[in-house]
Amino acid sequence: MKFPIFLLLLLGGGPLFSQPPSAERITKHVNRLASDKMRGRGTGSRENERAAAYIAKHFKKAGLKPLGEQGYYQSFTAKVRRIVVPDSLRKAANIIGFLDNGAPYTIVIGAHYDHLGLGKQGSSLAEKPEGQIHNGADDNASGVAGLLELAQYYAKNDVKEPYNLLFMAFGAEELGLQGSRHFLNHPTLPLEKLDFMVCMDMIGRYNPDRGVGIGGYGTSDAWPTVFKGVTSDIKFFTDRAGNGGSDNAAFYAKQIPVLFFHTGGHPDYHKPTDDPEKIDAQAEAKILRLEIDLLDKAMNEPKMTFTPVR
Ligand SMILES: [Zn+2]
Repeated sequence: MKFPIFLLLLLGGGPLFSQPPSAERITKHVNRLASDKMRGRGTGSRENERAAAYIAKHFKKAGLKPLGEQGYYQSFTAKVRRIVVPDSLRKAANIIGFLDNGAPYTIVIGAHYDHLGLGKQGSSLAEKPEGQIHNGADDNASGVAGLLELAQYYAKNDVKEPYNLLFMAFGAEELGLQGSRHFLNHPTLPLEKLDFMVCMDMIGRYNPDRGVGIGGYGTSDAWPTVFKGVTSDIKFFTDRAGNGGSDNAAFYAKQIPVLFFHTGGHPDYHKPTDDPEKIDAQAEAKILRLEIDLLDKAMNEPKMTFTPVR
C-alpha cells in the first residue's frame, strides 16, 4: 500500500499500522480468558489448552515466527506437588512466538497463562476451593493481555528494532514456575543470546495510591540509564529485587537481568472472586505504554550485564 506524503503528514508521520495498547482489546482478552467458560485455566484441563490455542492464534495473527518445539508449542509434563491428587502429572505447554529482526540479541517478554482451575491443584486461598472456578482475571489474564498487546504492537510497527523479541506465554506457573524453568532447561534459542526478560504477572488492578511496581531494577547496572527521564501518566516505583513473584525468578536464577511488572496484592488474590469486571483496562494500557517506552530505551543500549541483588 502506498500513501501520498501529505497524508502521512496529516496522520502525524507516525508508523501507519502500529496500534498502541488499547483498553478495548485488553478487556476483550481478559473477558475471554477469565470467563467462567474457561474454568480457571487449570494445568492439564481442556480449558487450559483452549487458552494456549487462543494465544497461539494471536501470535500467528501478529505474524510472529513459531519458536516452540511443535510450532508455537513447547510441551512438557507438569507436576502437582503442593497437595496430594491422583492425577499429579499433567499436560502443559509454553507458547512461544519470535519477532526476528535479524539482531544478534533477543529480549524475552513473558506472562503465565495458567491459573488454579477448579481449585484442585493447591495454593487457593478460598475457604472451600474444590469445585469453584478460580477465574484468574488479574492472575494472570491481565498479563497475557499485555503480552498479546506488546506482540501486535512490535510486530506491526514497521520498525526493525535493534533486538529480536521473544514472546512467551508460560504454562504451570502456579505449580511453581514449571513452564519458565522448563524453557530455561530446554531453550529454543541459546540463552547467552538473551539480553533481559520482562515479566508481567497481575497488572490489572492498578491502585493510584500504590502505583505499579517494577521489580528487577538491581539486576543490571544498565537499568538506571534506561529509566532515566522516563515519565508516565500512571504512578510507578522500582524495586531492586528480581528473584521473586513470578517467572522472572527463573530467569534471574540463570543470571539474566529482569523486570517484573505488578500492580500489587488484593483481597481476591488466588480466590474465585478474581473476576474480569474488576480489571482496570485503561490503567493497564498506560502501564503497557510505559513498558514500551522502557523497552525502546533499553534497545538503544548495548547488551546488558547481569548483577546479582543482595
Ligand atoms: Zn500469577
